[in-house]
Amino acid sequence: MLKHTIAEVRELVKQWKKEGLTVGLVPTMGALHAGHLSLIKKAVEKCDRVVVSVFVNPIQFCPGEDLDKYPRTLEADTKLCEDAGVSIVFAPSPSEMYGEGQMRTNDFLTYVIPPFFYVNKLCGKSRVGHFDGVCTVVNKLFNIVQPDYAFFGEKDAQQLIIIKKMVKDLNIPVEIIPCPIVREESGLALSSRNKYLSENDKKEALVLSKILNNIKLCYKKGITDIESLKETAYTFLNEHHDLEYLEFMNQTNLDEVKIADDNTRVFIACRVGGVRLIDNILLGE
Ligand code: AMP
Repeated sequence: MLKHTIAEVRELVKQWKKEGLTVGLVPTMGALHAGHLSLIKKAVEKCDRVVVSVFVNPIQFCPGEDLDKYPRTLEADTKLCEDAGVSIVFAPSPSEMYGEGQMRTNDFLTYVIPPFFYVNKLCGKSRVGHFDGVCTVVNKLFNIVQPDYAFFGEKDAQQLIIIKKMVKDLNIPVEIIPCPIVREESGLALSSRNKYLSENDKKEALVLSKILNNIKLCYKKGITDIESLKETAYTFLNEHHDLEYLEFMNQTNLDEVKIADDNTRVFIACRVGGVRLIDNILLGE
């Protein structure tokens, strides 16, 4: 079940392919929660064999981010996956993935760089190089596992759009399956980083989903002007919230939108208690 080397994964996948079985991949950074589990369940339903990768990918963290303190709960993650019917939990070390080169320098690795147009906005603006790290590791995982299907959450909608673009541009033979955002009953989108929030921060963190739901409500009432929709958000913000962005984009190609329509996805990033949280909503759903 738990495998640490690329060679072991390749060997098992080779056998499965020989038997004509379909393979699903769910890439994660671990600290699994119900959001991840929804992807895993979908994968287990759709595929004969499922690989869940658990890898805190150092090259997608920017200097000063939470690479060292990111929650690592491999034992519990493995148990959850086992119970969910996963065949392999692939948890490589950084050196298994990248060799012994110097981490977070770019002199040891061929990177996959997504188009500037997709990364010069939203999370890519403050997390410079983040999506290079994401595309590089996902591409490597695709090459290692060679999945028929790969499952990604709409929670990270910009990431999902960029991965789809990479797969199309590079003719990678995998079908990307998007999975809806899983939320707490309160509306808070599940995230491994919610572990950093105090009880009070968690209450304040509801501002993200409240803003998004309110914007959608206003849109459904007929308001389509972006500036007016943005205005509705500001009444929710207080001194606990450090808004990084609130943007309206076409959900397929990340074009900026001037007048909202059903294809518009609203993206928000906001720091609460020093923790950077993201969320999004599709207006047409
Ligand atoms: P991460 O471990 O944060 O890199 O996430 C791994 C995968 O799980 C990504 O495709 C995420 O979009 C997805 N994911 C994380 N949180 C959620 C959530 N609350 N709902 C749905 N998918 C999620």
